[in-house]
Parts: sequence; C-alpha cells; structure tokens
Amino acid sequence: MSKKLTGNEIRQTFIDFFVEHGHTAVPSMSLVPGGDATLLFTNSGMVQFKDVFIGTDTRPYKRAVDSQKCLRVAGKHNDLDEVGRDDTHHTFFEMLGNWSFGDYYKKEAIAWSWQLLTDVWGLPKDKLYATCFEDDKGDIPRDDEAADIWKLQPGFDPSHVLFFGRKENLWQMAEFGPCGPCSEIHIDLGEERDNLRGTDHVCGVNGECTRYLELWNNVFIQYNLFEDGRLEPLPAKHVDTGMGFERIVSVLQGVDSNYKTDLFTGSLDVLRSLTGHTEKEMDVNFTPYRVICDHARSAAFLIADGVVPGNGGRNYVTRMIIRRAARFGTKIGLKEPFLAKVAEAVINYYGDFYPELQKNKATILDNLTREEVRFARTVEAGTAHLENLLSELRASNSTTLDGHKAFDLYATYGLPFEISRDIAREQGLDVDEAGFNAAKNEHSKASGGGKAMGKTGGEDAEFFANILKDLQTKNKIGKDGVAYDPYTSTKVDGEVLALIVGGESVSSASLDDDVEVILPKTGFYIESGGQVNDEGYIRGKDWEIEVNAVRRAAAGVITHIGQVISGQPKVGDQATAEVDLTRRHNIMRNHTATHLLHKALHEVLGDHARQAGSLVAPTHLRFDFTQPDAMTSEQVERVEKMVNEAIAADMPVVKVTKSLDEAKKEGAMALFGEKYGETVRTVSILESDSLLSDKPQQQAAALQSKYSYELCGGTHLDRTSDIGAFLIVSEGSAAAGIRRIEAVTGRGAYELIQKRFKTLKQTAGALKSALEEVPVKVEMLQDEVADLKKELANLRTQSALSTFNLQLANVQTVKDVNVLAVEIPNADADTLRSLADKFREKYPQAGAVVLVTGSTVIATVTEDLVKRGLKAGDLITGIGGKGGGRPNMAQGSLPASRGNANEALGKAAKVVEEKLK
Ligand SMILES: [Zn+2]
Ligand SMILES: [Zn+2]
Repeated sequence: MSKKLTGNEIRQTFIDFFVEHGHTAVPSMSLVPGGDATLLFTNSGMVQFKDVFIGTDTRPYKRAVDSQKCLRVAGKHNDLDEVGRDDTHHTFFEMLGNWSFGDYYKKEAIAWSWQLLTDVWGLPKDKLYATCFEDDKGDIPRDDEAADIWKLQPGFDPSHVLFFGRKENLWQMAEFGPCGPCSEIHIDLGEERDNLRGTDHVCGVNGECTRYLELWNNVFIQYNLFEDGRLEPLPAKHVDTGMGFERIVSVLQGVDSNYKTDLFTGSLDVLRSLTGHTEKEMDVNFTPYRVICDHARSAAFLIADGVVPGNGGRNYVTRMIIRRAARFGTKIGLKEPFLAKVAEAVINYYGDFYPELQKNKATILDNLTREEVRFARTVEAGTAHLENLLSELRASNSTTLDGHKAFDLYATYGLPFEISRDIAREQGLDVDEAGFNAAKNEHSKASGGGKAMGKTGGEDAEFFANILKDLQTKNKIGKDGVAYDPYTSTKVDGEVLALIVGGESVSSASLDDDVEVILPKTGFYIESGGQVNDEGYIRGKDWEIEVNAVRRAAAGVITHIGQVISGQPKVGDQATAEVDLTRRHNIMRNHTATHLLHKALHEVLGDHARQAGSLVAPTHLRFDFTQPDAMTSEQVERVEKMVNEAIAADMPVVKVTKSLDEAKKEGAMALFGEKYGETVRTVSILESDSLLSDKPQQQAAALQSKYSYELCGGTHLDRTSDIGAFLIVSEGSAAAGIRRIEAVTGRGAYELIQKRFKTLKQTAGALKSALEEVPVKVEMLQDEVADLKKELANLRTQSALSTFNLQLANVQTVKDVNVLAVEIPNADADTLRSLADKFREKYPQAGAVVLVTGSTVIATVTEDLVKRGLKAGDLITGIGGKGGGRPNMAQGSLPASRGNANEALGKAAKVVEEKLK
C-alpha cells in the first residue's frame, strides 16, 4: 500500500469489500442490548445476531457486514483493569464482522479474508498464519476442510497452517448447543516487536509474547453438541467472524500501540494542548493519557446511547468511568473540567459513521462537565478519608479494605469503588469487591431503588396533592400551599417539608440522589411566557442540593428538582434556597431586551409584527413575530440600533399588578392566545425619568409616557441600561409568515464581540494587513486567484494539446482503422472533447480515439465506423469503464482502482478489432 489509510477508511474498505460480495451493511446495535436481560452492555459482534443463530428469529438478508460498538467494563468481560497499562486494551472498542446465515461457508469466507488482508490492504503474505481446529479430546473431527482451503490461497505458505485444540479453536455459545471450529489469522510482526525477546519463552502463534498478533477469527458454526457428548451436524451452517478494529488499524498504520493510531490522535492532541506537555513528557505519562482518551470515548458513546451518569446499573458505569477519567486528569495537572473537550475530538472523528454522536453532542458535553463538577466538589474530602482508612489498614497489618467502608465512601463522597481500588492498589493494597456489592445491594433495597421510578400524568398530580393534604393536616403549610415569589425574594429560608426520591416520599436522601424538594416558599421562577426556569442551590447545615429545575407538580405544590451533591438532607432540616443570581441576571437582561425588541419591531416594520413565540434564556433570547417577508439588513440594523438607544437612555422599568380591564384600557400589549386572570402583572418601560421626582404631577405625567407597556409575568431589570448591549445574531424564517430573531445581551454580547473581533484580528494577521484594510485585501486576493485560475487553465490546455500532438505519432492501424488511445494528464473533460474534435478533423473517416484524464474517459468514433458496428460506448466499457452517450461520442469514468491507465488503454485496439469482425 502506498498511502496509509485512516481508521475511518479502513472501516469503510472492510464494509465496502463485503458489500461488493453480496453482503448487506447493517448498522451497529446500541451499546444497550435490547431484549437481552442477561447482558449489561453489548460486548461482541455476536449479540445482535444471537437470535438468528439459535433460530428464534430471521433476517431479510443471508449475508451481513457490520462494525459493532462494544463495551467491556462490567461483568464477566471486564477489561477496565488493563486499560492504560498496555497498548491494546480498551473499555470501548469496535468489532468488524462478516456473517453468513446458512449461506456461504468456509471456501468463500477464507478466500475473502485472504483477499481483503493481502490484495486490498496489502499485508505481506509470508507473515500471515492460519490456525485450524484439531480436537485435543478426539471427539470432534479435525477441520481438514478449512486447512485444505487455506493451502489453495494464492501466495499462502502451506507450512503456515497450524492446528490448535479446544481452548484456542473451538467456539461454543454455551457448554452445549451450537458450536464449531474456528480458523484464526495471525500476523508475525517481527522479532523487534517481541516483548520477551531473549528470554526463554514459547515464541510462536498463540505463544506468550507480543510478536504474533491474532487479527481475525472466522467461526464456522456447524455442529450441535449434546450433553451426552453426541455431535450432530446443523441443518444450516453459519459463518461468524470478528476482527478487532483498533488492532487492525494499528497493524495497517504500522504503529506499535492502538493509542498511536489516528483513532486517538485528536483526543491526545486536545489533552496535550491542555496540559502543555511536550510529546516526550506525554510519553512518560502515557498511562493517564491512555485512560482518559479511552474513558472519554466510552462515555461519549454511552451517553449517545442514552446512558447518562447515575447511581444504578448502567448509569453507574457511565458515572464511574467519567469520575475515573477525571481523577487521572488530576495526575497530569488538569484542574478544570476537561472531558467535554476530549469528547469533542471523539465526536469529530467518529461522528460521520456513528451519527448518534453528532445528534446528542450537546447532551454528551453537558453531562460530562456536570459530572466532573459534581465529582470535584467531593473528591478531595473523599480521598482524604480513604487515605485515613488505608493508614489504619496498614497499622493493623491488613491489606484489604472492608467493602462496606468502601461503599460508605461512595454514598457519602461519591467515590466509586473502582477509584477507591485504584488508589488502594497504587499503595499495594486492595478493596473487597464482594463486600462493596453486598453493601450496595442492601442500600438500594432500603431506599426503595427496586421500585419503579417516577409516576406519570394524573397519578403524579394526585401523589403530590396527597403530600400537600398531609402537610396541611399537620399544619406545616397554609391552605394556598407553597408561596411563589420570584420577584422580590431570590433567597428564602424554610423547613424541608418533603423529599421525593425515585417516585417515593422519603425521610432522607443520600449523595447523588435525584430528588424533588418541597419548601414552604420559593423564589425560583417557574418556566412560563418563554422565560426559562431558575437554577440554584438549597443548602442545609451540612448538605447541599443542586437545583436544575422547578415545577408546579400539582395545585399548590411547587417542587425544586435537583441532585444531592453533598451530605444527607432530611425532612425537617432548616434550609436556605438560593437562586443562581448571575444566571438570573443574564435572563433578566434578555427579558427586558425582548420588550425593547418588540417595541422596535413595531416601529420599524409596523403594528402587524406581533409576538408569536419567545424564549428568554441566560445565554440568548429568541423572538418570533408575524411578518410576511424577510427583513432587509437595513431594517435589522435599525432595530438593533433602536434597542441600543433605548438601553443608553437608561429608562426605568416599572412593574405593577392591576386589574386586567384597567391594563387593557391603558393600552397594555396582551399576547394573542394567552389566558389572563382577573388581576395581571404589567411591565412598563417609561420614557421619562421624572417618575423619580417627588412631585406627584410629574410622577403622573411620567407614567403616561410609556415607551413600552406589556402584560408580563417575567422577571425584569429596574433600568434598561443594565442590559449593557444588544446584538442581533440572526434573522430568519421560523414558519410560514413568521420570522425569528435571535439576539444576545450583556455578557453574551461581550463574548460575541470578542469572538468576532478575534476572528477579524486573526484574518488581518494572516493577510498581514491593518484591520480596516481586510475587505480590500480579500478582494485583491480574490482577483488574483481568478487571474491565476485563468492562467492555469490556459497552460493546461496548451500542455494537453502538445501531449496530444506528440501522441498523434502513435496512431495504430487496426484493420483499416486509425486508433489512438492515450492518457492526457492534468486536463478536464472539455479539453478532452476539443482534442477528440481535432482527431476527427485529422481522420474524418475510419478513426477511433479514446482519451483519459484522471478517472474521466472520452471516446469518439467516425460515422462510417458506427455503421460498421463500432460504438463509442463500446470503447469505454471495453477498457473497463462505465458511461454512455451518443453512438459516435461517449463519456464515462474508469474505476479508481483500475491501476495503470495505460494497461486499460491497451485494450482499445482489441475492442476495435473484435467489433469490426
Ligand atoms: Zn517471542
Ligand atoms: Zn415579557
């Protein structure tokens, strides 16, 4: 092979090769195996076809090819311990496979694997070995069939067939049932790759060292094995193959570690840019680098398949690998959350083949960072506690930490078992895994973890209504239920009235629990009118809950939804609930700006521009409005300017509650389709500042001169100048007759300006020009490029012409026909056509010409030859191309793998001769 294939290209050539041989390309199944309760994660290519092999299901195809996502991190197949210590183990990996369901068998499977490895991928034939089955118990016949087929492969050294017994070369689904011999392909990587070189060891295929590497296992399922040892041939024979993707990539890219393939280049580069390490420093610290890249890749794929970090089952695994990666990050000096950046490199590399990564990108990045932040809060206290336990252990001359104690570390500090064990092992100690699992099971039973999670619809409201009734009976809360005041109290003290975990009302919650909290009063804004929920914290004396959402769970019941991030909150504890004020301020800037935008749109476009939808988030605002046509850029600029003028005018924002009738009479803007109660909240932005005057007349006058007047329940600033700045990011269509504006304010506007300014500075730097001169410079460059293109095209035509003129000397005479078949390098189809015309000018009769450039081919024949039975298209197909056109003129393409163009062109004369018989 001349050029090294990338990992993505290697995967694709594997799939393409088998599709060309009649296989259906089947997408990978999810890492969460559907319908297989015995498996935590999909751990081999076999999982998605198991039902076909045991005969409980069928597929519409008989040949399949796939690349299957696999995870080996829990249960019987667990490679976690090895990851990072060597160059070959991963928690996540891909398995390439081709499959025959009662269709082709050994002859095809072996021939194709040989062809792919040696012809397509160019592996050296003399370095490959094939193993076949010979029963060490003597019950099952030796697989001479496979061995004989191997010996027929072109270039295969017959002495490279080796026989092995049950352990290496017999595949069994279970102790009894379907089974069959395997034939494995191994490669000899050479003496220098022998990690035991110079020692006394078994050196050879299936030996003890790293010199011989197994590449591909072909399993031939042909027998049914009964308990009494009876062996019956299966009615339908199957082929099941597996090739570790990371491994074949390392061999084809000629590197001695899976982590040195391009599969990991992106993630390693990101990590190295974060640590500032040189490549040499990275090599010294390679274990943490490997662990982080491996774990980040697994976590990205897990979250893409819906397995977010959590406390139980699969979710625990995601949490554990993220936290383990985070801890290895601290070993190379990373203090801030960094996994999202590594995962971004993973998504970039794998996103084309596994679109679920692209689709869930935001969820993946968000979950990683959240989990790292959560872990960072407790890890120090947790490890300090563990260190104490380990010192006690050493003092008592023991080596294994009690599993219950390890579980306490997890329940209190969120330190997963695997991390406690890592730390213990680094000191030559260990942790009792069975004890940890026992303690975990006890805990999950005690906290009702086995019960169904959550409730739905009416059942949910009824559940919360009952909680409220109960609290009212106990006089814990008034008849109106939870008091709601997001306007004046963003920090509220109160007693924890109820905690809900896993759909049950509980008396206390533990670390990492997802929890709903009821307090007598709240200052958290509940999403409405487009303004999003508040976030924040509820803190007790020795515990903390992170609040991500609030909701009205039933009439009179507002719950804070979040997660326990430290300690153990209990019902009856005194607590303080505090809204994240920075975030709230960003939201308020966007909401007040939305009212200014609404006003400006009316001024610039007219009164028909009514609000049709809105989002007020901390990062940006989105405003939909009725407007038939796209806004001109001049209109957009005017709107943006008007809003910024209103900000600079530092206008007061006044919120008053009054009757709906009165507000409407005063001309307050109500939203179409919105339901209002009898009393409403009004938000006015006043043109005059004399509201602050102590003279009642001036005050009244100020209230009359409203710049904007809306019915609105949202939270707002007191003065427009607090918005800082307002920038429109985009104007576009939202639906028929509805336009959408997205904009940023305050911090968001500052960040946008910074970003744009940086881009401009970089552009100016690259152009070596002043900022103001960038547009002129770019225009000059564009002109220059256009001139150069024209010049290049001229030169190409000239060069093609002179090549062609030289080649005219090589016109052959076949029968009585003048035939020319040549390659013209660096030309295009137009040039070829004009050259073909020149040929026809020279040979108006009995002339045939085939011209090739790159993969493009053009053929023409003179009319007299068409009449004699030779068509231009015949010449294209005759030299191995595809295409069509008129009988005297055809255009097509040669396959990319055609090899030497001259070889193909050599066939043209033969075509002429055959067709003109
Ligand atoms: Zn060896
Ligand atoms: Zn509003």
